[in-house]
Amino acid sequence: MTERSPQDENLPAPETEKPRFRLALLLLLVTFTTTLWAGSIWHLSFMLGSGHSSPDTAGFAGWPDLLPGLPYSIAVLAILLAHEMGHYLTCRYYRIRATLPYAIPAPIPFPFGTLGAVIRIKSPFRDRRELFDVGIAGPLAGFVLIVPALIIGLGYSTDYIPPSPGGTTYEFGEPLLFRLAAELFVPAGEDWNINLHPIGWAAWFGMLATGMNLLPIGQLDGGHIVYALWGRRGHRAVSYAALGGLVALGIWCFFGYLCFAVILVFMGLKHPPPSVPDGPLDRRRILAAVAGLLLLVLTFIPAPVTVRGESPASTETVPAPAGQGAIRVHTGSMCPNRNAVRRDAGTVECRDDFCHGLVRIIDAPL
Ligand SMILES: [Zn+2]
Repeated sequence: MTERSPQDENLPAPETEKPRFRLALLLLLVTFTTTLWAGSIWHLSFMLGSGHSSPDTAGFAGWPDLLPGLPYSIAVLAILLAHEMGHYLTCRYYRIRATLPYAIPAPIPFPFGTLGAVIRIKSPFRDRRELFDVGIAGPLAGFVLIVPALIIGLGYSTDYIPPSPGGTTYEFGEPLLFRLAAELFVPAGEDWNINLHPIGWAAWFGMLATGMNLLPIGQLDGGHIVYALWGRRGHRAVSYAALGGLVALGIWCFFGYLCFAVILVFMGLKHPPPSVPDGPLDRRRILAAVAGLLLLVLTFIPAPVTVRGESPASTETVPAPAGQGAIRVHTGSMCPNRNAVRRDAGTVECRDDFCHGLVRIIDAPL
C-alpha cells in the first residue's frame, strides 16, 4: 500500500529527508514477533492436520514454542517487504520523497500476525509515468516472492483431515492463483483437500494483500495505475464503481471488506494529480497495466474468510490404531494437549472449556 499525506500534496519536497530507520526497525521487530506467534499457531494447525483452528494460545509456554513459526514469519515479511521495497526503490529512482516501508503488527487473535506494510509518499508525482511505475512496482515485486512461497508451501502440504462437526471453523477462500498452483503442484484426487503448510499461508496472505491493494480505488496501488491510465475523470468513475463492488462483497461475502471500504472512504477517494499533466502512457506501460489487471484477477479473494458457527459442546472419541498411543486433535479449537486425560488405550478426553470436549485420536504416542 502507498499512502500520501494530504497536507503534503502541493508542498515542494524539502532538500533532505532523514529516513526514520529506528521506527522502521522497531515496527519490523514487533511485526516479526507477532508473525512468529501467528506462524507457530499455523504450524500447530498444520501438524495437527485439521486445517486452521481458533488461535488459542493457552498452550504456549514461551519462546521455544514460537520457533516453529519462523518459516511463516520470514516468508510473510519477505513478501510484504518486497512489495513495499518495490514502491520505495521506484520512489528513490525518481527522487520522490517517501518514508521507509513500515510493517504493521497485528497480535493474536488476528491469525496472520500483521496487517501488511505501508510506505508514505510525501512529494507529488511529477507525471503519469512516475505515478504508474510507483503503483505497479509494489504488486509486481511482491508477486515475485509470492509464487515461490506458494510452490514451496504446496510442496510441503499434506492431506487435510476434515473437521468433526461442532466448534468454530474457518473457511479460507482460494484465490485463482492458488487454485492454478494447486492443480500443478498438488497431486489431484477426486475431491482433494489441502492441509496447507505455513509458508503456503504466508503466500495466501500475500495474495490477499496484493489483491486488496490492486483494487482500483482512491490511492491504493490500483488507484495509482488507473489514474495514470485514464486521468482524473476515469479514476473517479472506476473508483466509485469498484467501491460499490467492494461494499456489495462486504455485505454478502466478507464483512472485513465493508470495514476496508469505510477506511478507504475515510482516507479519501480522490487522487492528487501529477504536477505535469502529460499524455497517455506508452505501450510498454499499457502492457504492464494489463499484467496488473491479470494480477488482480489472480490474487483477489471475494470471500477471504468464512466463519462457521459453534454448535453445542459434544465429545467425540475415535479409537487409535491398535498398539499405538494417541494424541488429541481438537477440531475447530486449539488446546495443545496440556489438559488431556487419557481414558484408556485408545481414547483421550480433554477438560479444557474451550475445546468443547471435541477430541479425535490419531496415531502418535501420547
Ligand atoms: Zn502497494
